[in-house]
Amino acid sequence: MANHSLEVLKLSVLFDNHFFNGVPTQVHFIQNSTMVGTWIDEQGAANLSIGLDRIKFMNSDQLVFLIAHEYGHLVLKHPDKTIEIQQQYGIVSTFDEFMLSPDMKRDYSRLMREMELQADLFGAQLVLGLGHDPVSGASFLLGETKSIQHPEGTLRVAKIKAGEQSLVAEDFSGTFNNLAMQLSDAEVLAALVPSYTQPIDSIDSTVKAAVESWPASGAGSYAGDTLYGFEVSVLLTIAVLACAMPRWWRKTSVG
Ligand SMILES: [Zn+2]
Repeated sequence: MANHSLEVLKLSVLFDNHFFNGVPTQVHFIQNSTMVGTWIDEQGAANLSIGLDRIKFMNSDQLVFLIAHEYGHLVLKHPDKTIEIQQQYGIVSTFDEFMLSPDMKRDYSRLMREMELQADLFGAQLVLGLGHDPVSGASFLLGETKSIQHPEGTLRVAKIKAGEQSLVAEDFSGTFNNLAMQLSDAEVLAALVPSYTQPIDSIDSTVKAAVESWPASGAGSYAGDTLYGFEVSVLLTIAVLACAMPRWWRKTSVG
């Protein structure tokens, strides 16, 4: 598990550097959860939530695809688009989605599922660029049934397979040149995760990663990959990594 968290952090640092000038996406590792998702917080910072039970048995192709897909949502500004669409349809909670009329539900669903397919193809290009196999990486989707927000897993994998020929591998060469040092920092920090315990209100924008936990009961069944802000207040942090950050993690995108 620790190795998987470390891989997630490394990918996150790599993608932060490649897409966001090194501005850190805050990574929340959630214990006892399979939920994965992205959102933008009130400070405008990007957040990535990873249920540790979701990644526990993933191979490295799958792990890379999952994180690349989530960064697809961030780079393509899907958290903002989701809020726009949900406002348009008057959706405040998951419950509201089920209360939509059949016609509205179909249209809403189409918009939401479209973003998933976009993130899949975007993610697949990153996976290729990192020398992994996108179809193998997306294989964990095969068992996933369709939801209001997600197309059926078999369809998603079929779309990646069908688009494979036209996928253009993301060119990370410029990012890699400068990254070896940073990744070793991430390794050190990742190794520190279990030994730092602080309450959630100590989280600030300099925190790169945190290990958190959902309430053990009453959390209900969250569809994976649907965390876009409104559930965040439910988070209980039991451990936070907040040690002194290397300067490159505080680097702003000005310039
Ligand atoms: Zn997604």
